[in-house]
Amino acid sequence: MIKEINGLHHVTSMASDAVENNAFFTDVLGLRRVKKTVNFDAPDVYHLYYGNERGEAGTVMTYFPFPNMMKGKAGVGEVGTTAFSVPDGTLDHWLNRLFEMGVSDVEKSQTFGENRLNFSGPDGDGFALVEVNEDARAPWTGGDVGADTAIRGFHSASMRLRDGGASAELLKFMGYELFDTSGDVSRFVIPNGNGADFIDVETLPSIERAQQGAGSVHHIAFAVEDRAAQLAVRSALLDTGYQVTPVIDRDYFWAIYFRTPGGVLFEIATNEPGFGRDEHVSELGQGLQLPTQHEHLRSELEKTLRPLV
Ligand code: ZN
Repeated sequence: MIKEINGLHHVTSMASDAVENNAFFTDVLGLRRVKKTVNFDAPDVYHLYYGNERGEAGTVMTYFPFPNMMKGKAGVGEVGTTAFSVPDGTLDHWLNRLFEMGVSDVEKSQTFGENRLNFSGPDGDGFALVEVNEDARAPWTGGDVGADTAIRGFHSASMRLRDGGASAELLKFMGYELFDTSGDVSRFVIPNGNGADFIDVETLPSIERAQQGAGSVHHIAFAVEDRAAQLAVRSALLDTGYQVTPVIDRDYFWAIYFRTPGGVLFEIATNEPGFGRDEHVSELGQGLQLPTQHEHLRSELEKTLRPLV
């Protein structure tokens, strides 16, 4: 069994409009943009990262905003809801804030004994805020959301699957334990995690397959401390029969990817070197940062990429 994973690292989704996406995460949710770079595989598109002050693993939501991309159609074989952790007793504040800022579909609920606010992002993205008692992670307070209410990082991600069985086995192999079951949802927890500790597996046998597009989660990444831990995870996955990519340098972390039995794309990402690699912490996310292989495109990209504000 794998012992190196310590929770979520980041969640990566697609959007149809970079400006709207940036405003939603920084103005509405109050996260910090910790990196403005491009999609390394399609450098004419931004890759935007939002998280806490340093963009620590377990706090980072990332987006590829493809201009005018068609909205995705929710279904099975993908991540349904990305949930963020907020302090106990703050949901009414968030409810009012989201309502005042024009966020649609805001709805209170309770799952696994936790108070929760479900809402949609600009492209119909499935989000939730979950009240957590004593989440020790330091929030970003450089926006207009105070420390007493600000998002701490991820709480969980949920996978929507026609048959959750094989993914449940995979999560256990990755070090997760069954936490509880409620209706169609099984919740898994990583022991001694980084705070972004839960994965929910929703079994929905009669739902159609998702069509990915704007508002869809492209992949979720799990955190490992360093490259040695990543290689150990890679070899354990290969030994079990998963087809895993070679290690890819993403500048701010190293990445490997593999497809889960239910069709969801998983990544294993290192906590090193982090977002301070090419910018001072006080300036994270401000300048356009390009990987070495795309640096020669800078003058063209600075003309074609739409300014975020
Ligand atoms: Zn990723």
